[in-house]
Amino acid sequence: MDLGPVCTGGRACGSPATGRRSCGPVELPPQVISTRDAEEWQLVGDSELPAGTVPAVTLNDGHTIPQLGFGVFQIAPRDTAAATLEALEIGYRHIDTAEMYGNEKEVGQGVARSGCGRSEVFVTSKLNNGFHRPDDARRAFARTLDDLAFDYVDLFLIHWPLPTLYGGDYVSTWNTLIEFQRDGRARSIGVSNFQPHHLDRLREETEVVPAVNQVEVHPFLIQETVRSYGATHQIATEAWSPIAQGLVLGDPTVAALAAKVGRTPAQVVLRWHLQRGDIVFPKSVAPSRMRENFEIFDFALDGDDMARITSLNRDQRIGPDPDTFDYVPA
Ligand code: NDP
Repeated sequence: MDLGPVCTGGRACGSPATGRRSCGPVELPPQVISTRDAEEWQLVGDSELPAGTVPAVTLNDGHTIPQLGFGVFQIAPRDTAAATLEALEIGYRHIDTAEMYGNEKEVGQGVARSGCGRSEVFVTSKLNNGFHRPDDARRAFARTLDDLAFDYVDLFLIHWPLPTLYGGDYVSTWNTLIEFQRDGRARSIGVSNFQPHHLDRLREETEVVPAVNQVEVHPFLIQETVRSYGATHQIATEAWSPIAQGLVLGDPTVAALAAKVGRTPAQVVLRWHLQRGDIVFPKSVAPSRMRENFEIFDFALDGDDMARITSLNRDQRIGPDPDTFDYVPA
């Protein structure tokens, strides 16, 4: 896997109003650069980096994405601009939102207020479940760009496959996202909550392999099948609910490892994700936890620590099953 330019923690973007410093590319230590090869796909984050340094993962279309971002699911719209601004001040340069979260407009406002240039922040959004038909998807995507007040998003995803709706047709929806990538309004395109058999259809019936698949992953649901499918086909795995919305933090094994390495349970779990090579974007509205979740690049877990966390798997979802989920917002 290629690791490209990075942003560093504790750096707000340049702004005439605040005089903040700009976040530019910095050199990564050579030991974290590796080739993007299926077997090596998961070998990211296996070395210690300077504090606050976020590796960038190169996607199958050549674009890069910061491996650690900030998620805004369940942040109220009235709090989202401030939370986004706080995250950018801490050093996050990757924000994960969705039309269904109802806060795209406020994410755009937070980015605008930060003084970060558009190219300095990687922003993902997702197609609402109600808009899978091509014309609906075109209108929804235009609204997403309007709400964010952006000319383009860095990554646009089909939020759920919804195989029991729309006659099981997520292929025409995917072809519509391909249009958005070809016209330049979505730099990268991908999917979320797709199982390998859904991905098979996209690979067989369309011309573009998704750059990412964003799925639920945490120590109680390690998703080896979906992740290894992604590794084989150069589809990067993004792990949503990386700390299982707090559920895994009280686990005794996680607590013992946190005590051993002198870190918090959340830091240990997020570090485990990074060392597996997944992309994560924990959510928090508390600046102290946002900062805690960012400070995971100056320590490493050893092979035994990694295996102990992986062994906590119980195939336990906290979210819905993608094969049956059929929620469409009113
Ligand atoms: P997370 O696993 O990120 O957990 C968030 C919860 O954990 C919040 O209640 C937060 O509380 C708490 N928390 C955060 N950091 C800490 C910490 N250091 N110590 C203790 N508690 C902490 O869950 P999410 O479901 O939010 O997932 C992250 C992101 O993934 C979402 O924001 C969204 O962007 C994406 N996502 C995508 C989905 C999809 O279908 N594609 C589905 C779900 C999520 P507090 O805010 O009070 O700190």
